[in-house]
Amino acid sequence: MSSLIFRKGLDLKEAVAARLADSYHSQLIDEIKETGYCHQSGRLTIHLAREFGFCYGVDRAVDYAYQTRERFPDRHVYLTGEIIHNPHVNERLRTLGVQFLTDPGVDPHALGSQDVVILPAFGVTIRQMEQLDRQGCTLVDTTCGSVLNVWKNVKRYAQDGFTAIIHGKVSHEETRATASQALQFEAGRYLVVLDVAETAQVCDYIRHGGSRERFFEYFSQAVSDGFDPERDLCRIGLANQTTMLMSESLEVEAMFRTAILDRYGEAALADHFRAFDTICSATQDRQDAVVTLLREHQLDVMLVVGGYNSSNTCNLARICSETLPTYHIADPACLESPDAIRHRPVGSKGEISTRDWLPSGPVSIGLTAGASTPDNLVGQVVKTLDGFCKAHDV
Ligand code: SF4
Repeated sequence: MSSLIFRKGLDLKEAVAARLADSYHSQLIDEIKETGYCHQSGRLTIHLAREFGFCYGVDRAVDYAYQTRERFPDRHVYLTGEIIHNPHVNERLRTLGVQFLTDPGVDPHALGSQDVVILPAFGVTIRQMEQLDRQGCTLVDTTCGSVLNVWKNVKRYAQDGFTAIIHGKVSHEETRATASQALQFEAGRYLVVLDVAETAQVCDYIRHGGSRERFFEYFSQAVSDGFDPERDLCRIGLANQTTMLMSESLEVEAMFRTAILDRYGEAALADHFRAFDTICSATQDRQDAVVTLLREHQLDVMLVVGGYNSSNTCNLARICSETLPTYHIADPACLESPDAIRHRPVGSKGEISTRDWLPSGPVSIGLTAGASTPDNLVGQVVKTLDGFCKAHDV
């Protein structure tokens, strides 16, 4: 039995609008936007980035999830995993009775035509999609249009015999889903590179060849089955996970282009190399806005709000940390007191606690949030900071 798939919502946008606003909207943030993205109170000044928080893809995915619950009040509704990388949003969906296929006790293979499954904004692998389809589940597909655009290009690479080189995190749901797109065609191959250091290793192999053992020691988890570096690095097409750091993606692309040029020469470039920009515009806008914020204001501290597993949030923190003390916090509760903050340092895997993080005297704080962070959390951060600075004024 094949499934019923909803891809354009469920005609219940108005029915859920008030509940969505209650859950994620912030009057305070609206007011700060109206007053030039600046909030001043006593010794505290907060400068908000001009673009932050929910992107169009996340907005749509969360909206569809609420519509799904509304449309199927008596059916089991599941998410394949996190709908977006924000614990607060995922928890809210749980309180509406939405379960996760990854929850203990849930057997995805036992699902059938009475079950409804929501696919997240970053998409799912072709294998998972086919499995759910075979089981006849009703599917609500919230895959973002910007992700679909990447898939389109990766499929074209595979069709034309080019290996997709994906700049992304190999374990990220979006990258796994994107990589799976390459495998629909016989000649489809992929390789995922995380950063410039990994890119340099692959470029070295393109230029000079090398030890297959060493290549697989490093990349065995990042390539398609049967990958042969001699054969599969001859014709490559670049793509990115949509939420990577734009400047790094451009560097990765330039490094591969140069390696191919060195190996095959200018005249043969088009036969061996393709590229297109797949950073989504929302990610780009948030990165640009934070760069502008850092340039235009004298800031003492930067706060970046968003899930620790949110790639675009991590990249915002990375940009800021190059300029000033930056604290990536998962939610407002991380602001424990004017003397203690829980946060995840850039590049590390765990959360730590730092003391004496809030300067005394007049303080100027930059604030931004990742594409999966709702406004109400940003508003709570502002209120908490207000409280800390007032308490210290007394
Ligand atoms: S970050 Fe970009 S690709 Fe991802 S959901 Fe948002 S708009 Fe879509």
